[in-house]
Amino acid sequence: MRIVLMGPPGAGKGTQAKRLAETFGMVHLSSGDILRAERSSGSEPGRKMKSYMDAGELVPDEIVVAIMAEAISAQPAEKGLILDGFPRTVPQAEALDVQLSALARPLDAVLVIDAPDELLVERVAGRWSCPQCGRVYHSRYLAPVRAGHCDTCGAELIQRPDDAEAVVRERLDAYHRQTAPVIEYYRSRRPIIQADGSAGPDEVTRLVTEALAARGAAWQGKHGRGD
Ligand SMILES: [Zn+2]
Repeated sequence: MRIVLMGPPGAGKGTQAKRLAETFGMVHLSSGDILRAERSSGSEPGRKMKSYMDAGELVPDEIVVAIMAEAISAQPAEKGLILDGFPRTVPQAEALDVQLSALARPLDAVLVIDAPDELLVERVAGRWSCPQCGRVYHSRYLAPVRAGHCDTCGAELIQRPDDAEAVVRERLDAYHRQTAPVIEYYRSRRPIIQADGSAGPDEVTRLVTEALAARGAAWQGKHGRGD
């Protein structure tokens, strides 16, 4: 089974991708990890990508697609795939379809884990961590005993710049702007499985596993193979 996983910051996409990869024996390809590795490898596409990023520009779709296509074709054909963080734009989605059909490995479904913006802001903007021991807190769900200080070592807690409320709202706006057209693109082409990410992580895993197992069974019937 090959799927694209989409979801806004704070919906728990990363956690679910890891769990699904384990449950279904799929390879989890996170575009963030792959692009970072490519950039530091000094390869030709990696160098091109770096020059755009150093100039503060968006990396063109064709470079991203070429790197991701390479990563996908490097996987054994019989293994399933979870693409996480890619495709991010309609041109990327179109190019991915062309590449995958050339490899005779089309996508089976698109999984969207979503939640209301206000909940996502509360989740992400409430995250604090200890710079000394790495312990993680949440101002509402997992608050330290003494406000702003680590229970373990007493150090002053910090927030990642990306998690500040205004930045989270910008990230959500960007996600909606970019992703809505990609979901529209897939709507007429692939089954879209929507999961409510406002539940706790274990409940989300249960819902998504059930939905994918149902799709997987249908897929297996169609192709006569278990991947
Ligand atoms: Zn600490």
